Amino acid sequence: MTEPLSRNHAVTLDAADPLRSFRNEFLFPKHGSNDQLYFCGNSLGLQPRGARKYVQETLDKWAQQAVEGHFTGADQWMTYHELVRDPLARVVGAQPDEVVAMNTLTANLHLMMVSFYRPVPGRSVILTEAGAFPSDRYALESQIRFHGFDPATDLIELEPDEPEGTISPEAIERAIAEHGPRLALVLWPGIQYRTGQAFDLAEIARLGHAQGAVVGFDLAHAVGNLELNLHDSGADFAVWCHYKYLNAGPGAVAGCFVHERHASSDLPRFAGWWGHDKHSRFRMGPQFVPSPGAEGWQLSNPPILGLAPLRASLELFDRATLPALRRKSLQLTGFLEALIEKRLADVLEIVTPADPDQRGCQLSLQVVGGRERGRELFDYLVSVGTIGDWREPDVIRISPCPLYNRYMDVYHFIEEVEAWRGF
Ligand SMILES: *Cc1c(COP(=O)(O)O)cnc(C)c1O
Repeated sequence: MTEPLSRNHAVTLDAADPLRSFRNEFLFPKHGSNDQLYFCGNSLGLQPRGARKYVQETLDKWAQQAVEGHFTGADQWMTYHELVRDPLARVVGAQPDEVVAMNTLTANLHLMMVSFYRPVPGRSVILTEAGAFPSDRYALESQIRFHGFDPATDLIELEPDEPEGTISPEAIERAIAEHGPRLALVLWPGIQYRTGQAFDLAEIARLGHAQGAVVGFDLAHAVGNLELNLHDSGADFAVWCHYKYLNAGPGAVAGCFVHERHASSDLPRFAGWWGHDKHSRFRMGPQFVPSPGAEGWQLSNPPILGLAPLRASLELFDRATLPALRRKSLQLTGFLEALIEKRLADVLEIVTPADPDQRGCQLSLQVVGGRERGRELFDYLVSVGTIGDWREPDVIRISPCPLYNRYMDVYHFIEEVEAWRGF
């Protein structure tokens, strides 16, 4: 019998982990001659070994074929974005024509709001969370101003109502009911980046729609982390990036979802030639005819070098499958939580909800004693090659990633914090 939460327990869990071989598919930064203890997939996922191959192939094709590269082979550039479409649809639980890889997250948020935030006098309010990621807030504010409305009255930011700084489902329901007829858009995160709280997307979409509002999601911290059923959630649109849990590299091409019920609608949009119906795109006519589905929101021919690593990453998700990743993630983060409670309760407080349905892999930690002590611990961890990240004012985010982290990594993290604290 292995003693629960012992070192042996970690060894046993790793040995029984059906996903353990995926770790070998990633490149780890070094601390001395060892791999870093890397818990920062919430910010930048590790490089899949396959990324270099696809980038190199693209460079070779460009060198050897130049313009012909648009038209040759299964990976021709003309249709390259379609190579990632089906696996991406599987990752977010959508139909293939509901997703597209394009641009970056904030750019996609703006493009989606051009189509889906259509304020009129009397119905001009955007509801979001207080403490939203700054880029999202800037996007929302600037869109409200762009339409000639005033963020002071038309951007409603729901404050956390729970002691840890999280937001209860009841508070969301109350806010949507309170502002109901004035709501043009509810824009909500799948997972709050600072607290790690996950939200019930289908329920938020249902409540928003019942009030006649459009509902969109920012899934930056949810994609590749939770089993999303985007289509079934009923969301009108969603946006996300691919450099966090999707491991597609710094500034990777981002993702966008448009629900199929808007596939052939004549919503206003900012158009570009790559969104034009692909069968007639090269007739180069003056009239824009959108491709049906999310692809109709594309502007430009995509950066192939930026899409190449995403291909490699999505192949791993297809092999591992999200249900299996989520199963491991629940156990891996649960292991971290249980060890913190058993051995570090005098040092660390967990901000992230204890209910596994209300979180992904990330635990947000505050250090007992306040911000300065928190910084001290964080700096110590970095100095010993244990990488999480710091979010002002006082949160350390630790995200054990089921694709490449081991139970033993979590165990080592606990030992590092103990070494800092002193026994
Ligand atoms: C990471 C993140 C972003 C980053 O935006 P980019 O446009 O990719 O630079 C935006 N919003 C949220 C919620 C994020 O977590």
